[in-house]
Amino acid sequence: MLDFENIIVGAGLAGSTIARLLADKGDSVLIIDQRNHIAGNTYDFFDENEILVQKYGPHIFHTNNEDVWIFLCRFTEWNDYKHRVLAYVDGKKVPVPINQDTINILYSKSYDTEELIEFYNNQKIDIAEIKNSRDVIVSQVGEDIYEKIFKNYTKKQWGVYPEELEPEVIARVPVRTNNDSRYFTDRYQGMPQEGYTRMIQNMLDHPKIKILLNTDFLEIQNELKFEKLIFTGCIDEFFKFKFGKLPYRCLNFKFETVDKEFYQEAAVVNYPNDYDFTRITEFKHWTYQKRPNTTIVKEYSSAEGDPYYPVPQKENYKLYEKYKKEAESLEKIYFAGRLGCYKYFNMDKVVEESMKLFHTLY
Ligand SMILES: Cc1cc2nc3c(=O)[nH]c(=O)nc-3n(C[C@H](O)[C@H](O)[C@H](O)COP(=O)(O)OP(=O)(O)OC[C@H]3O[C@@H](n4cnc5c(N)ncnc54)[C@H](O)[C@@H]3O)c2cc1C
Repeated sequence: MLDFENIIVGAGLAGSTIARLLADKGDSVLIIDQRNHIAGNTYDFFDENEILVQKYGPHIFHTNNEDVWIFLCRFTEWNDYKHRVLAYVDGKKVPVPINQDTINILYSKSYDTEELIEFYNNQKIDIAEIKNSRDVIVSQVGEDIYEKIFKNYTKKQWGVYPEELEPEVIARVPVRTNNDSRYFTDRYQGMPQEGYTRMIQNMLDHPKIKILLNTDFLEIQNELKFEKLIFTGCIDEFFKFKFGKLPYRCLNFKFETVDKEFYQEAAVVNYPNDYDFTRITEFKHWTYQKRPNTTIVKEYSSAEGDPYYPVPQKENYKLYEKYKKEAESLEKIYFAGRLGCYKYFNMDKVVEESMKLFHTLY
């Protein structure tokens, strides 16, 4: 029988944050992951070309939360990368979020800021009651931009068109009237200097923390004794799917080596309307590594496979509420992270929520 004060299931950012905070207080922690590595979906590693790649898709850190930033700075230094994304539309690559260049390139214009504001005003459509994500978009940028940039990308990503998604999925479309091409505008942004895996390794490097990999908690739970259990896996799986399965959008990744220094102009290029993949990521744009060749990854979205994105539809939230209620009736067992809370969290939010949970435990 393994006996720890705390058992944490999942060595992703959520589990690792809580593990470190508990260990800093002097508690013993066993952190278990079914995968053969730590760092959850932020896991990165050096591929055969010695390029630092991210196994589960591009993860760019950004936050306005100073406490989160200070906490993570204990475990890594950061480079100065500012994320930039292009979208391939009508044979042209244009910046997203939409800015002055996007419109001028797409419509072969040379609008200044004032003319651009007028353009947006002419495009947008008055909608009395915003009922879905399509309404959110066309009420801000109109039908044509919706068709070119948003409609098919959403269908590729979620398997449904924006009119079938809740308004909050695309709560607000960032529309810029200047040439700011940064994807995020948060105060703190960058990439961990030596990668996320190293950052999380440093987080878990504590005499009070033991790591157990290649182990499914649900298979060994009867062999464990604990005072507190923090579960960051799928909440429906914990309860043996007793109310039904929570749907997730899944991803498949196809990595390729390209025999030239750079493949594309930005780290990420979205393909809303062409090809089967949703986007191509090229890692060297943020690792700043000097290599004669480059690694890219094409991302495909599907309904089957490992769980990635909770599907933001009313009926799924209702189902989750049933599990949440069940979870609240348990003693000593807490649910955290994107799978435990069935919610898309950015990394900073995962750390923030994990810090909050820690404070409720202490
Ligand atoms: C494609 C993609 C891109 C993203 N890009 C960004 C981005 O650019 N910026 C950003 O801020 N956020 C991004 N995110 C969000 C980010 O991935 C999450 O916020 C974060 O990784 C969630 O951490 P977590 O610990 O909750 O979950 P995870 O990282 O998924 O960790 C959960 C861990 O629990 C383990 N586990 C589950 N069940 C069991 C079990 N029964 N037994 C043992 N172990 C178990 C899993 O193996 C996993 O390692 C992105 C997400 C995706 C899907």
